[in-house]
Amino acid sequence: MLGRSASSEDALLARRTKSTARSATPSSSHSIPINDFTNVVPEGMIRLSGPLEHDNIVNGDGLRAVLWTQGCPNHCPGCQNPETWDYEEGFLISIDEVMERLSKFRGQTGITFCGGEPFVQPKACKEIADRVRKEFGWNVWSFSGFTYEQIKKAGGDAWEFLKSLDALIDGPFILSQKDLSLRYRGSKNQRLLYLEHKTGKILKVE
Ligand code: SF4
Repeated sequence: MLGRSASSEDALLARRTKSTARSATPSSSHSIPINDFTNVVPEGMIRLSGPLEHDNIVNGDGLRAVLWTQGCPNHCPGCQNPETWDYEEGFLISIDEVMERLSKFRGQTGITFCGGEPFVQPKACKEIADRVRKEFGWNVWSFSGFTYEQIKKAGGDAWEFLKSLDALIDGPFILSQKDLSLRYRGSKNQRLLYLEHKTGKILKVE
């Protein structure tokens, strides 16, 4: 198996935690069991908050398609997209239709899942992630208001979606740590984690 050992992964995370003075204790709003929110959409469907984007250069490396999911339990103070929180808003669309629309985007190197909270729809997101990798050869990134550790602990569909990624930008937006100079992130507590596809092992932390 490729990738780093668990101990080197722990060391990577520990180094990053120390350098950003990250709180060791998640806020109460982020101790929600992630898998309580799985299967909130019918099989074969996904709930989105807006149209699919392409040629995006601010949500990951390269030229990217972006998929905006609807529904978020995190409710971070200062969130720029509170209209994406409600699970009944946005619109339902079939995964086949999403793939059809994505297939028309030329020259993309990857897709990024934004939100909302992609990890409350992990089965649908994983299916799209796996299909774009196989059918278009794209890499796959996702944002999450949950941390890597919370997703790993939750296991189940959330962990399966994480294992389909090449990179995760994790953690809630924390207004008091806002820093717009960071690559792809809004606050200092958030990490850019490059992952080993299929295992979810952390390869690099930024
Ligand atoms: S996780 Fe993202 S979408 Fe959800 S409340 Fe926080 S900043 Fe907003």
